[in-house]
Order: sequence, then structure tokens, then C-alpha cells
Amino acid sequence: MELAQLTRDLDALRDEALAQAAAAPDSASVDAIETDVLGKKGRLTGVLRGIGALPVEDRPRVGAVANTVRAAIEAALAERRANLRGSELAARLERERIDVTTPGRPIRRGTLHPSIEAMGDIARIFGQFGFVVHESPEIEDDQTNFQMLNIPPDHPARDLWDTLYVDVPGRLLRTHTSPGQIRVMQAMEPPIRALLPGRCFRYEAVDASHGFEFFQVEGIMVDEGTTMADLKGLLDEFARAMFGAGRKTRFRPGYYPFTEPSVAFDVECLVCGGPGCPACGRSGWMTILGAGMIHPVVLRHGGLDPERYQGFAFGMGPERIKMLKHGITDLRLFMENDLRFLEQFA
Ligand SMILES: [Zn+2]
Repeated sequence: MELAQLTRDLDALRDEALAQAAAAPDSASVDAIETDVLGKKGRLTGVLRGIGALPVEDRPRVGAVANTVRAAIEAALAERRANLRGSELAARLERERIDVTTPGRPIRRGTLHPSIEAMGDIARIFGQFGFVVHESPEIEDDQTNFQMLNIPPDHPARDLWDTLYVDVPGRLLRTHTSPGQIRVMQAMEPPIRALLPGRCFRYEAVDASHGFEFFQVEGIMVDEGTTMADLKGLLDEFARAMFGAGRKTRFRPGYYPFTEPSVAFDVECLVCGGPGCPACGRSGWMTILGAGMIHPVVLRHGGLDPERYQGFAFGMGPERIKMLKHGITDLRLFMENDLRFLEQFA
């Protein structure tokens, strides 16, 4: 190997490396060229391996040329890197561009279903009078749903409750929360103050005021010496807490087989306040619940002696309460899962 040849090889390597560097499309390619040409096992080292074959006096000269070549290649790679960094940054900025003026996505908050919310309101108010919430099964037996509530199989009052039966003989979907009265009396000792909220089912044609599935809240109070006056006082307090202080209320005669006497409880119309309007059927009153003194037969079925204990029960529809409060005219809205309706309640 002679000096001139080695110098030419080094020049050729430099020219080739400079061309590659200039054409490198990205910084990864620049890194690859650096390893390939200047690395420990790179091509420059390979060329310099020929140095051993040169006469000793020529070696420093080759070393000087090699250093110049290395410096030129390093400079070219550095320059290319710097250029690429600028354009790669620009590309990255373009790729990750954020429009800070884009409107944010709102975080939607869930709300309670209006029926659940109404039951919560009812439970809170009666809770202040010492009523505790009690759960009662949705699938009932005919005995508890009807017979123990003074509704025998041939009783005409069964027409009031068109019933959905399950495929177990004698079992049905409860048509009201009233069978809970029997279960509470059997489970608790007087004094009893219990609230029974829950889902009820009836074989009904669905329209604006009837559903085959709806909620009810039943209340029951039993103690020695409980009277109709206690019932009236309690319901008056409830009506004021739910619909506002100063609302007039009234009892009207009603009928249920399991209470005697039975009453309907009305509040002054929430829309017109008394004179009469379409919402109250021009009567000036809105019926919010049914109630009455528990029939002695029912007390006995609950395991209590009617000579010693008296009690009252009341039942209301939380949807109806909500409808009256907010002027909602169609019961079906509560079961249709339309968010435009449901989101109005918080
Ligand atoms: Zn009215």
C-alpha cells in the first residue's frame, strides 16, 4: 500500500460520506451514517488499517489527512443534523398542533331519576317525624297483596287492581305497596312508623295518567291511641314541607278495603291557588294521596290486637307529586328514558 493510494481512499470516503450526509432524510439516517463511517468498526477505521503497511515516515502524514477527513465528515453530519432538527421540529409542531380556541367538551353530570328524587324528598320529610324506610318484595303472594288486606278473591274491589301474575301459582307482581303494611306489622313491634317506597305493577293500558309500572310510597303508623287527628296533622305537615307553607289542605271521603274510614287528601291547586283552572279540573284542589285508619281485620292479619292498637296508613305516587309540583301532564315521560326530560331534574 502506498501513501497516494491511501490518501485517495480517504478522499473518496470523505466525498461519499459528505454526499450521504447531505442527502440524509432524517436524524436517524444521520446517526446511521455516523456509525457506518466514523464508528469504532466503521469504514474510516477500515481504511486506516492500511497504515501499518506504510513506511514509518509516511504514517504521520496519513494521520493528518485522516484527521482532516474525520473533521470534515463530522462537520457535515453536524450541519445536516442542525438543519433536520429545524424541519423536524416544524413537522412535529404541525403534527401536534392544538387549536386553543376550540370550545371544550362539557363534562355531563348525572342526576337522580325524578321518581327516585321524589321518593327521597318524601322519605326525608317523613324521616323528620321518625318514619324509617322499610323494604318489601316486588313479587308478592295473593294472600299478602289482597286477602290479608281485606280483599278476598271474590271481592269487587279486586277490579281496582288489574294484576300481572308470574308463572309461580299464587305469586304476582305487587299491585300496590300496601302489602308492605302486613309485612311491617309482622316484623315490628308498635310503636311502628314505617315508610315503604317501591315499584308497583298493574295490567293497565298505558296513557297519560296510567302506567303498567310505577312507584308508590306507603306509610304506616301504629300505636296505642293513634287517631285520625294524628293522620291529619302529619299529612298537613307533609303538604307544607313538600308544597310550601300556607297551602290549604282538605280530607274527602274515600274508599279502600283495608282502611276504615278512608280518605282522599287534597292540597289547594298548585297552579291557580284556589279559584279553579284546567289543571285542577276547575275544582281548586289537587288530590295528592289516599289514606285512612287501618281496618281492624288488617291489624289482626298483621298480628296486632285492634282492641289495643290503632293505626293509619297512607299511599302516594311520587310521580304524581312530581307532576303536580312541576306541571308535568304526562306520566309516560317518567319511564321513557328521554334525557331531555330527565335532565331537567337535579
Ligand atoms: Zn287550579
